[in-house]
Amino acid sequence: MDKSKLSQASIAAQALGWVDPITKAVTPAIHPSSTYIRDPDNQYTSGRIYARDNNPSFDQVEAVLAALEGAAGAAVFASGMAAATAVFLSLSPGDHVVAPTVMYWSLRNWLLTEATRWGLKVELVETSDIAAVRAALRPGETKLVWLETPSNPMWTVTDIAAVAEAAHAAGARVAVDSTVATPVLTRPLALGADLVMHSATKYLNGHSDVIAGALATARDDEQWQRIKRIRAQLGGILGPFESWLLLRGMRTLVPRVRQASASAMAIAEHFHGHPLVSAVLYPGLPSADGHAIAARQMQGGFGGMLSIRVKAGAAAAIGTAARVELWKRATSLGGVESLIEHRSSIEGPTSPVPDDLLRLSAGIEDPSELIADLEQALKAATA
Ligand code: PLP
Repeated sequence: MDKSKLSQASIAAQALGWVDPITKAVTPAIHPSSTYIRDPDNQYTSGRIYARDNNPSFDQVEAVLAALEGAAGAAVFASGMAAATAVFLSLSPGDHVVAPTVMYWSLRNWLLTEATRWGLKVELVETSDIAAVRAALRPGETKLVWLETPSNPMWTVTDIAAVAEAAHAAGARVAVDSTVATPVLTRPLALGADLVMHSATKYLNGHSDVIAGALATARDDEQWQRIKRIRAQLGGILGPFESWLLLRGMRTLVPRVRQASASAMAIAEHFHGHPLVSAVLYPGLPSADGHAIAARQMQGGFGGMLSIRVKAGAAAAIGTAARVELWKRATSLGGVESLIEHRSSIEGPTSPVPDDLLRLSAGIEDPSELIADLEQALKAATA
């Protein structure tokens, strides 16, 4: 059997099939040590000196993610934000970057405040509009185009291959926040992206019990080495136990993502055209703006995230979230339990998100029970 050609399901389930060479254990040990023995002749032939720089806790989880993304390498971080900001900090003050108008709000806030103060020239555009991306690119000056697809919380779809072609022609790289698509549904590097980022807190871990981030790269080049140096220097590393939990979570990534996608599709279809709902935002619906691109770029499903806009307005949306009994009223996404959130409340007054919007993260419960629960809450809130 050619193990280099294994499917994602087999790679993930066995975490590449690594076996501990000493104990023969099929699950890895946790290595809490912060430091490593120096040889009597003053060398470090083990290759490990200090756990902020070379940490054995990362090895297997990074190898699995690299295999799933088809990447030359991967790196885990203390959070998705630590991973994302490391990419921007690997640029230089004065560089121009293009990012989506609607994207993960905390990263957008950082880009418009600290990153701008540090010297990046940040331009936000509607990246689903390829003409807008082309118009924003400044050849020689634009160093990075940041994408998020489908993007939080309107689930707009951006054509990664088209953006990569335009960005590369202008001398810019492309990084994709692929948290929602996961490598199961989209492999951005195969579409021409240079870097992939995940809030591993979400689907990769999948159990709402770890904050983690990850990057995967198309090439082990100078920028990648700088990103890894930034991780070690700024210290945004993942702890040994969190690395272990993340690896355990990733073993079930493929069936979890498939189930969440199927459930999200069933929920979207049920509430599309519903008398109490003015819009269902989900790239899997044929009526969605980015459906044709999503159908090309996403394989095997359209993801577990969708939003609904409640016809009766903001108070009814908040009232719906208040009345669910099975859905959990909480922020975040990508866990086995389904979450519902009135999104503009958490993003605050500068949020571009409509105030009648509820963001839904489909978990792996019985989808008919999720639909019935949301239906009763919507009816009670708008009665
Ligand atoms: N990107 C997306 C799409 C997210 O949803 C999140 C968190 O909600 C992040 C990035 C940030 O990740 P973390 O919370 O792990 O720092």
